[in-house]
Amino acid sequence: MADPAAPAASADPAAPAAPEQRVIIENCAIATVDDADTEYPSGHVVIRGRVIESVGAGAAPAGLEHVVRRVDGSGHLLTPGLVNTHHHFYQWLTRGLAQEANLFDWLVALYPTWARIDEPMVHAAARGSLAMLARGGATTVSDHHYIHPRGAGDLLDAEIRAARETGVRFTAARGSMDRGVSDGGLPPDFAVETTDGALRATEEAVDRYHDASFDSMLRIAVAPCSPFSVSTELMRQSAELARRKGVRLHTHGSETREEEQFCHELFGMGPTDYFESTGWLGQDVWMAHCVHLTDSDIAAFARTGTGVAHCPSSNARLAAGIARVPDMLAAEVPVGLGVDGTASNESGELHTELRNALLVNRLGAHRERALTARQALRLGTHGGARVLGREREIGSLEAGKLADLVLWRLDGLGHSTIADPVAALVFGAAAPVTLSMVGGSPVVEQGRLTTVEEEDVARAARDEARRLARIAAEA
Ligand SMILES: [Zn+2]
Repeated sequence: MADPAAPAASADPAAPAAPEQRVIIENCAIATVDDADTEYPSGHVVIRGRVIESVGAGAAPAGLEHVVRRVDGSGHLLTPGLVNTHHHFYQWLTRGLAQEANLFDWLVALYPTWARIDEPMVHAAARGSLAMLARGGATTVSDHHYIHPRGAGDLLDAEIRAARETGVRFTAARGSMDRGVSDGGLPPDFAVETTDGALRATEEAVDRYHDASFDSMLRIAVAPCSPFSVSTELMRQSAELARRKGVRLHTHGSETREEEQFCHELFGMGPTDYFESTGWLGQDVWMAHCVHLTDSDIAAFARTGTGVAHCPSSNARLAAGIARVPDMLAAEVPVGLGVDGTASNESGELHTELRNALLVNRLGAHRERALTARQALRLGTHGGARVLGREREIGSLEAGKLADLVLWRLDGLGHSTIADPVAALVFGAAAPVTLSMVGGSPVVEQGRLTTVEEEDVARAARDEARRLARIAAEA
């Protein structure tokens, strides 16, 4: 069992690591997830300020100056921090409902409750979602927030505050819906915005928050919800807005057979052709799910560099199907992992997605060769970074990249007899996190969040969930 030295850094997530100070992690197995999949049975990482200075075999070089902390990683595996590419934080307040429903029935059952959310609710839900992810080794998180009921307050700002408080890197996908029931869409009319209102608010969010810098803690993406809740005009203009501003685009795509049918009936083409016709395929786009892709759809994603957020637990929960991840990877489509909203994946942590990506894809067409444990780890780290447009900065342990990394304890009850550390992490139970760092600052120490009090987060989320249920029942 390792005995990491007491943390020298402040627990304030906003406090930057001092640029000259070094932290050394050594004596651990290391999976770098670099392009060559370099691994060390026992190696070291030296962090200087916010950045990885060196990674290698054996102990750290002797004689390094300004070393403020030395962590003995014996019995551990060090990996890049996990990257979550798709989520809906607000659903933290509506978990465990509509348990036997498919996507459309589930949406219709939950929209009336979701339409009652307000700023304190979203703040508490975001803190719950973020704390759960961070405690489980996520260091970069994206959220797709598309419900903005009139008078509910600034819901995007509530999420951004929660991400700052939790200390993780954040991509806030400013979502929108403008196709209510009366326009042939699925959401109730009172849950949607006007086309112009959605575009204006999205542009304001980009101007106010988006930080494109190398070590940015906050980026904004433009993210209309889905073909069945958004007008063609909003899809088109959103793509134009994102390109004018130089930010990324995100939406849901090809999640279910019903959606495919909806697109054929309404647009006379399948979802991927529809996306292409509205400017929605490209290197700056990533889409959640992509379960029902044809061979030519996969070729279009590969040709255009469009990314995919694979959400295997949610796809199973809603009986959506099995995404063709092995075929996407063979075609070199960028693929990351997402928990999706926690109303369709109550676990809300990314280890479940590593494991389910591996297992679920073996139930598909490719059987035991479908996906390896190392490919699953790559999806959850490097793949996610690529999908979020951040592969230069994060997603692998390499000199010059940001020090976003996780030290997983593998010598305890759950893992001590599993032969291979990467298999232990992916095939095994969720491993305890001894240390997780974002830009060289600890967010988890010995399994506990350093930035927020878990019990406070849990209590506030429960109180807000009850308030939401009460308001929805009275409506
Ligand atoms: Zn989703």
